[in-house]
Amino acid sequence: MINLVIFGPLGSGKGTQSQKIKEKYDFIHFSTGDLLRDEIKKQTPLGKNIEMVVNSGALVSDELIEEIVKEFIKNNKNAKGIIFDGFPRTVHQAEMLDKELANNNLKIDLVIKLDIPETTINNRLKYRAQKEKRADDNDEAINNRLQYYYQHTLPIIDYYKRTNKNIVDIYGDRDLNEVFNDICQQIDRLL
Ligand code: AMP
Repeated sequence: MINLVIFGPLGSGKGTQSQKIKEKYDFIHFSTGDLLRDEIKKQTPLGKNIEMVVNSGALVSDELIEEIVKEFIKNNKNAKGIIFDGFPRTVHQAEMLDKELANNNLKIDLVIKLDIPETTINNRLKYRAQKEKRADDNDEAINNRLQYYYQHTLPIIDYYKRTNKNIVDIYGDRDLNEVFNDICQQIDRLL
């Protein structure tokens, strides 16, 4: 079983590339953002609880994410592979993921870090705002999400370097198929 973390700021193409990886390799795409949006859409008790936080661009609590992730790993131990998208978001979550995988004799096999300039992030998100109408794709929430990324999420890379993860930097401001080819090369090495 292969565990991939797809890492990068909002608008770097994590969701799009995850979808392509899922189709080609038959891996499971685990997006905490999609999962939370779904809860909000269905207006479940959890969804109602987190709606304001998610729409403001802030992060939901590590405790809540931890519960969701534990359950997910428990239910997907026999997958061919898992793509973790939008998770981990904090060093605490990254530590928790390592622990939880280790408890199941698993580990992170590859961290794909998508790099893109901030101007591209803004352009892409403006386009997505029109297309998908995500409640957190407005200027204020985008700004918040970027701040959270730099403050809480990017430090995960230092943690991953310290713990000797296999990190691959891929330039994401290119044709999506070119980006995907580079990702496939890395995955194929693991198979
Ligand atoms: P995303 O679709 O990954 O951009 O996530 C959308 C929003 O969902 C984020 O801005 C957060 O409010 C929330 N979210 C998603 N994943 C996480 C996570 N791992 N930890 C905390 N909040 C998250």
